[in-house]
Amino acid sequence: MFNIAIDGPAGAGKSTAAKIVAAKLGILYLDTGAMYRAIGLKALRRGINTRDAEKVAQMLPDTVVEIKHIDKTQNIFLDGENVTHLIREHNVSMAASDVSAIPAVRLKLVELQRQIAKQNSCILDGRDIGTYVLPDAQFKFYITATAQERANRRHKELLEKGQDVSYEDVLKDIVTRDKNDSTREFAPLKKADDAFEFDTTTMSIDEVVEKLLSIIGNKK
Ligand code: C5P
Repeated sequence: MFNIAIDGPAGAGKSTAAKIVAAKLGILYLDTGAMYRAIGLKALRRGINTRDAEKVAQMLPDTVVEIKHIDKTQNIFLDGENVTHLIREHNVSMAASDVSAIPAVRLKLVELQRQIAKQNSCILDGRDIGTYVLPDAQFKFYITATAQERANRRHKELLEKGQDVSYEDVLKDIVTRDKNDSTREFAPLKKADDAFEFDTTTMSIDEVVEKLLSIIGNKK
């Protein structure tokens, strides 16, 4: 059993690369951002201010987040409803970033992440996996890219999904989320001291995968 942590800001290529690496190694892929998105979605639906720590925390005891792998693809359920696609809406990204700064939210979701990681060899992508969720993970990566390139990638992804959003708005959101995620007090976005860091700005996804596999392969 082994765990691989991939952290970094939005759009660095974590999830696309992690999915391919998981398939190649025959292990589970866990997208931890999806969990924060599910809580953000619930707060939005309830009309709760996503920055109101008290109101969001009050919502948690009767909130059930579950991960099920269907045909090897992660599906996320919120109170029994499959919200896998709904959480990808552009407005949910910022809500996720807001609620992720609330300690009660993190404690609840980190427990679930650790449980899954204990039972399976898996590759987890997030912001605090190497520093907080799994400080003893066998492999740790921290991947980055310029904000412009990350916004480009996200914008393309959203357009492909039929969402009508401008590049400027996506870039603005990415910059705001970077700031939120790296300045929050509890488990901020940060490179673990022992993580292998690289910049994917000019790399193709195949090159990112190759790089990850070459490092994992040498040590596994
Ligand atoms: O990775 P993704 O962009 O889907 O994550 C959405 C938001 O969830 C991030 O902006 C971040 O605020 C939060 N998040 C987090 N910790 C993680 C994963 C995501 O705080 N491990």
